[in-house]
Amino acid sequence: MSNLRDDDVIRCSFCGRTAHEVTSMVAGPEVYICDRCIDDASGIVTSDVAAPSAPAAPRPKRTTAPSERMTPLEIKSSLDEYVVGQDQAKKALSVAVYNHYKRIDSSEYFSEYEDVELEKSNILLLGPTGTGKTLLARTLARVLDVPFSISDATALTEAGYVGEDVESILANLLHAADFNVERAERGIIYIDEVDKVARKSDNASITRDVSGEGVQQALLKILEGTVAGVPPKGGRKHPEQSLINIDTSNILFICGGAFDGLSDVIASRISSSSIGFTASQTDKIDKFDPKIFQHVEPDDLIRFGLIPELIGRLPVISALDNLSIEAMRNILLEPKNALLKQYKKLFAMDGMELHFDEGAIDAVVHKAKALGTGARGLRAVLEDAMLEIMFDVHSKNNIARCIITRETVESNAEPIFEPNKATA
Ligand code: ADP
Repeated sequence: MSNLRDDDVIRCSFCGRTAHEVTSMVAGPEVYICDRCIDDASGIVTSDVAAPSAPAAPRPKRTTAPSERMTPLEIKSSLDEYVVGQDQAKKALSVAVYNHYKRIDSSEYFSEYEDVELEKSNILLLGPTGTGKTLLARTLARVLDVPFSISDATALTEAGYVGEDVESILANLLHAADFNVERAERGIIYIDEVDKVARKSDNASITRDVSGEGVQQALLKILEGTVAGVPPKGGRKHPEQSLINIDTSNILFICGGAFDGLSDVIASRISSSSIGFTASQTDKIDKFDPKIFQHVEPDDLIRFGLIPELIGRLPVISALDNLSIEAMRNILLEPKNALLKQYKKLFAMDGMELHFDEGAIDAVVHKAKALGTGARGLRAVLEDAMLEIMFDVHSKNNIARCIITRETVESNAEPIFEPNKATA
């Protein structure tokens, strides 16, 4: 056994990890053992003592039996309870997630396919802001009961530069898992705004691109699966700090972004390939088509500025649609924790009924749509309309019902207050 390799770095003689990759290393005469291998070895010794005739290498226990695992259909219908529309994305996510957790458990299957390694199905979600990308990822984690964290790609920089290391993404997940490493290693990480770390131009620049391509390069390893040393408190790594090792091979990464400008790239590819007699239905699509992202191909993303290796590690690409007026209306009214239900609950807690008439709902939806921030606009419009009312409703006596009208939303007119008839 040798503790050193050509690079003269101290490595564990058992697993080969370097001193930087582990929390501690015990040295013997010409051998080293890391804390992970000490743990593993003591586990083997203890189980051998307890059951001497047990097979030497016990297989890891399956955490989800096939029958307990949710089917794609079940996952989708759970998503339906919280997320309006976006059926295509929901289906893609449900299948990807189902396969992901099947892949984690696949080490236990013995069959003719034993040698077939299932690849990881990380996901890329494309879609305008406020259309439910984060909500989908968050709801997925809630449905599956796994830890979930959100990180912003724009905060990251290549190691060694001002900004956060890519490992900080894992620190966030570890926090969400209450420092339970095993749980964190099966979690879901949403990386927002990946489109903002796109390369700025097709040409390699002379100066280093630390916040764009450099970050994409840094993301590659953790997306693919690696053992990363994570500073428990987040922030930058520094030499004397103890690191927690996290294996990312079973963490599901969902990357999202608005990809402004991608529609031009897709449209120009489609139009340049549509010259001639073979022009088909898809060739008529222009950049303003609301479903243009559904036609995205990996080449378009490369032209947009993502590096091919990163796209290779995000094999499932799904597009979210712009929200229609109808969808915005549903978002306001239908989901389990729909915004209107939340306001109604706030009023009910004060013993009042809150009612929005049809005109008010219509006005909220149209005002929000005009803001161009997707469903996020709904909250902004409602907050604006409701602020004054919530501020002084308590100064009025004996109110049983508050009716919000179109005028309340459009011009902050006073709502209709109905008195409590029993005491009036
Ligand atoms: P983004 O696509 O920018 O990640 P989010 O998922 O953060 O958007 O959505 C912003 C807010 O809008 C969320 O809090 C959510 O309540 C609401 N929302 C957006 N899209 C939907 C949707 N399809 N169904 C229900 N709510 C939605």
